[in-house]
Order: sequence, then C-alpha cells, then structure tokens
Amino acid sequence: MKGLLIFIFISIVCAACSITGTGGEPPRAHSEQNGADKPDTRQSDAKNGSVTVYTARHYEADSVLFEAFTERTGIEVIEIKGTAEELVARMKREGERTDADLFFTVDGGVLNFAKRENVLQPLRSDTLDNQVPARWRDPDYYWTGVATRARVIVYAKDRVKPEELSTYESLTDEKWKGRVLIRSYSNLYNQSMLASFIALNGEEKAEQWARGIANNFARAPEGGDRDQAKAIADGIGDVAIMNTYYVGQLAASKDPEEVRTAESLGVFFPNQETTGTHINISGIGLARYSHNPDNALKLVEYLTGKEGQTLLAKESFEFPVNEAAEVTEPLKSWGSFKAQRLDFSVMEKYREKAVAIFKRAGWA
Ligand code: FE
Repeated sequence: MKGLLIFIFISIVCAACSITGTGGEPPRAHSEQNGADKPDTRQSDAKNGSVTVYTARHYEADSVLFEAFTERTGIEVIEIKGTAEELVARMKREGERTDADLFFTVDGGVLNFAKRENVLQPLRSDTLDNQVPARWRDPDYYWTGVATRARVIVYAKDRVKPEELSTYESLTDEKWKGRVLIRSYSNLYNQSMLASFIALNGEEKAEQWARGIANNFARAPEGGDRDQAKAIADGIGDVAIMNTYYVGQLAASKDPEEVRTAESLGVFFPNQETTGTHINISGIGLARYSHNPDNALKLVEYLTGKEGQTLLAKESFEFPVNEAAEVTEPLKSWGSFKAQRLDFSVMEKYREKAVAIFKRAGWA
C-alpha cells in the first residue's frame, strides 16, 4: 500500500460553504457505528474507504501513525491541517456537508471548546473503554485522549544540579534571576499551564507565580519550546519550562547540533511532592456530521491501541494513554512521575483569566 496517505493543506477559501451554525439539531445517531458484522469489501487492491481527519497537530509522527493504520486496514487517511480555531469554525460552517470525520488536536481546553461548539458527537466502544483510562477521556465521550504531554523544567546539566530544582514555584526565587526561559504567554501551552495553576492553587497564587517568573526571565519570551532548549545550550539561560517531547525530538534529530543540544539538557519533573507536574492532553473526537463513522472509530481504536500507542510514543515522544504501550528511550529514562490531577475542562474555563494574569504580570 503506497501513497494512500493524502495531505490536503487547508485553504480557507470556502466561498461555496455559506452555511452557518446548524442550530440545536441533535447529533446524528450512530448506531451503525460498529461495522464488525459488515462484509469486508476489500479486494486485492481495493481500498476500504477513507477517513478524513481535521487536525491541528503539527507533528510528523502523526503521518507515520496514519500510514501504519492504512497498511493495516486499507483505509485511506486524509489529513486536513489548520489551527484548531480555523478547523472548528470550518466544521461549523460546513455543517452536514463537512468532510470531517475526526477532529484531532492538542490541548484539553481546545478539545472542550470543540465539544461546546457542537462540532463533535460522542464516540464509544468497549475497545476504547478498555484502552483509554477514564481519566484521559471526556466524561461524555465527545473526545478521547491519545497522548499526554508534560510541561517540565529542562536544565543545563553543566550549570544546574537537579537537587537545586523542586517546583515551578521555586523558579520564582531570587536564585534564578536572569536564568529562566519560557515562550510567550500567547501560546496555548502556557495559557493551559497557568489555567491549571489557577484551578489548583487559586488566582492569587497563580498571579504571584507569573510575576515571579517574569522577574527571573533570562530574556523576553521568544520562539517556541525548542528555542528555549537551544537558548540553554547557547548559555542565554539555565532552565526552561517546556514540553518534554521536544527534548526527544532534538535527541532524535538528524542535525548533530540538535543532538548535542539534547545531550546537554536534563529533564526534571517538578512538584512531585505537591500538586504534580503539569500535563496536557492530545485528543481526538468524532465529527458531529461524520460520513464515515465506522472508519473513524477504527482509526481512533488504532491510535489508542497497543500498536498505535507504542508507535506514537516512539515517534512523537509524548506519553501514551494506554498502559499496554511499550515505551523506549528517552521516555524510559525519564521514568514515571506524578502528574497533576485535573479536569481538562479547566483549561478552557480559566484561559481568559490566565491571559489577563500574564498581561498584568508583564509577560511578553
Ligand atoms: Fe508542540
């Protein structure tokens, strides 16, 4: 099976689709979803149809996973990429005429936003129930987690000892003045992190933290998570708050410079004695007007199954949600850690508050 994966890059030229909100129509029933008893129409080279994923994720790993799924099932995966906001707006606009079968994104806040915007419908199967612990799913089944991601403290191994690190809060100490790196508050990863702190510690403490970190910036926030890692290697700062999987990506890079950067970094999971390390989630939901719900379910079951999860951890360096997944390096050496216990909907609930706090605290 070659070339079954088709990339269609989103072009927001949708003059034809002038359908706006679809009102309060109930989601379509999808009792036909379990297609197990349907005849297998696969011929020698025949495709078993397709599944279209509207995806806001930006990782090459996903293509590897989709190709593996196509190999297994003969079902073509069509990726339509865009920002989460664009894709949700597009699904609303397209209504029943949408091509979207699934919506795939990072961030618990975004997943909840899609649920609330009424572009998803519940997706449930015994297989999914067995593969994904309830903790990583929407309680109403509008989305299921596919991977978790930890936002940790990454440090310069030659300048910082892990014993000097403990909590996110401790990075506001005088000791770290001029040494802390983190990207802009306009990024969702930071907004969701601060939203989690609001939920766990209250608004006042969250604001104290944001101010304290701004006080200790090594430089005004710039670039993405990878750039913070590189800034540590360049000696601009000594610690960075960033997602672990970027360290994995750098370590696996074909660029020897990036590999050297990764080797100079340590990964520290903060708040192990308190509220746990901040985690966020990558998740997928069935589009409200999916035309291929059988194939959509098969893809979600694959992504969260042992094979898909093992491949995902290996390729994207995120943490699998299915405990049956096998993890390899570097996840293995990072070890297990205590994660925040959080309802992911707080990321949407407190997002605006988080942005206001960042602005008051003087983040760029
Ligand atoms: Fe990312």
